[in-house]
Amino acid sequence: MPFSSLGLSEPLLRAIADCGYTIPTPVQIAAIPAVLRGKDVWASAQTGSGKTAAFVLPIIERLVADGPRGRGRFVRALILVPTRELAAQIAGEIHDYGVHLSQDAGLKTLVVVGGVSINPQMMALGGGADIIVGTPGRLLDLIEHNAVSLSSVTTLVLDEADRLFALGFADELARIIALLPARRQTLLFSATFPAAVQTLAENLLRNPVRIAIASKPEDKPDIHQRAIEVDVAQRTQLLRNLIVLHDWSRVLVFVASKYATEHVAEKLCRLGIEAAAFHGELSQGARTQALSDFKASRVRVLIATDVASRGIDIEQLPVVVNYDLPRSPDDYTHRIGRTGRAGESGVAVSFISAETDAHFCLIEKRNRLHIEREQIAGFEPLETIMPAPAPTGGIKGKRKSKKDKLREAAGLTPTAPANAAKPFVPAPVVESGELFPFSRRPSQPRRS
Ligand code: AMP
Repeated sequence: MPFSSLGLSEPLLRAIADCGYTIPTPVQIAAIPAVLRGKDVWASAQTGSGKTAAFVLPIIERLVADGPRGRGRFVRALILVPTRELAAQIAGEIHDYGVHLSQDAGLKTLVVVGGVSINPQMMALGGGADIIVGTPGRLLDLIEHNAVSLSSVTTLVLDEADRLFALGFADELARIIALLPARRQTLLFSATFPAAVQTLAENLLRNPVRIAIASKPEDKPDIHQRAIEVDVAQRTQLLRNLIVLHDWSRVLVFVASKYATEHVAEKLCRLGIEAAAFHGELSQGARTQALSDFKASRVRVLIATDVASRGIDIEQLPVVVNYDLPRSPDDYTHRIGRTGRAGESGVAVSFISAETDAHFCLIEKRNRLHIEREQIAGFEPLETIMPAPAPTGGIKGKRKSKKDKLREAAGLTPTAPANAAKPFVPAPVVESGELFPFSRRPSQPRRS
């Protein structure tokens, strides 16, 4: 089915052609005509499915058809998203799709997000806007400053609704929704439908068109998933070696904390690999800079917290590394989904240490995966999990390294009891997931 049969006008079709899209994606085929008809939409759609264009194109079409906006601090279409980067990305797409609109029909689009001064956003809102793309907190700040009124909103979009809830925006969302006119169009896009999103959808949407594109096996992204066993202390060196060995041009590395992003980035830089940290507490300027350096290949590795795991569209990202495992199985899916986009293949590597092995088994189980464990020569793990005291006789899923088994067999390193002498029971290393007691031989120099 061509784009021209979806009901979009010529300036939009030209812009679509400029973007290089030849045929609409399934979510676009289902959503565009429905949105043009003024229907509410309830869509389960992942990033990478073309969902942004599925709502942006018909919204532009309708706004242009409705004629110029009235005077005052009003907004006509409101797109709420969980992260600043996603807001900027959507605004970029709105701009790209609107390039061939006539000067008169030009739509004023504003991004309202936190992390930057509110004053320029207040100034920009003078005279209202056709489209606001923003995060809930900053939008509420602007409403409290009387900079914008939501009383004329005709279309509300909640994009990545599950993530909005996961990031704790439930209260803000409820406050914003209470300020919207009852008669409006609502479009809800979400990758997953946990209970909170389900309830929201049921309360918010009127007779919606339901869109659930069943993914066909051939639509599945081509991501080669690897699980490499390595001791916690050796991960950075292993990461460096993998980058050099495979000549990875661009690598997104996930860690568990803001501190770790900076620490690992610093260590990689010291090892000769350009790396930058990316986390939620950087100023907006620093976040934008890090992301654009990464996209422009000025830095080879971006070390990020989960703030980057959703919604960020980095073209040609061949590799994602879980340096620390994600907390939830869902986050695993979102993280690795940053690679293997738009028909390209990708690699997702997870580092598994003795104390995170059970957590990874859980991620595999929930995601119905089984990934063979690998060890890399020179980085074979030395850490082992000690069996729990009798009567349980061991922790399910914990492994001993080959070397430890050999040592045990040779009677060199008996399995230490939980209260063993100091060298065998260091303070647990906090990474992600649950903690288990483990024993570790004193560290030894390594080849690398
Ligand atoms: P999204 O799911 O909105 O994050 O879109 C993922 C990527 O697909 C973006 O880079 C879009 O530019 C691109 N895209 C959207 N629609 C199409 C299409 N019909 N054909 C090819 N690429 C598309």
